[in-house]
Amino acid sequence: METIEAVKRLKESYRKLPGVGEKTAERMAYATLGFSEKDMQDFIASLENVVKNVHVCPNCGIYIDTPLCPICDDDSRDTDTLLVVTDAKSVISFEKTGKYHGKYFVLGGSLSPIKGIDPEKIRIPELKKRIVDNNIKEVILACNSTIEGETTSSFIRKYLEDTDAKITRLAYGLPVGADLEYVDELTIERSLDARTIYKGE
Ligand SMILES: [Zn+2]
Repeated sequence: METIEAVKRLKESYRKLPGVGEKTAERMAYATLGFSEKDMQDFIASLENVVKNVHVCPNCGIYIDTPLCPICDDDSRDTDTLLVVTDAKSVISFEKTGKYHGKYFVLGGSLSPIKGIDPEKIRIPELKKRIVDNNIKEVILACNSTIEGETTSSFIRKYLEDTDAKITRLAYGLPVGADLEYVDELTIERSLDARTIYKGE
């Protein structure tokens, strides 16, 4: 039982990070206490910098720290193709392959009635508007291959039924239950190449 209130609060913050349990949070909190004055100032400055300068691109949903989005505002990219991902981290995985040159749409989560996450919350109506307004020719669904991700994929597929866009999904071959963040680049590249057509030629 942690008796120092400040350490307890620090631990609670660390606990919110993915993969950090009680023990690890405790180790991290005490390691932070051992920081030098300079390391501590740098740490605080990094957090403040993120809060002040990083925001979400209103168009695609990736994190940016510049007024213009490096992807949405890049005229050399293919504007006919839209790749739909569950979270902003997945965009980094696709960008690393260097094989995808279209645009992105980050949902910011998966549908989950239990958690109260409905289509509006993950911007599905906005997605449709973007497809129609920008005359998107192909929508590639690359939601996480978890049960919630699959449910989201099939919902979107039906929701976009009346648009003119061709709808594809990443090829199976991605490990089931995989968070794209942990999948190697070659696997992502192959699943993109061998994507399955949902509708369209
Ligand atoms: Zn953007």
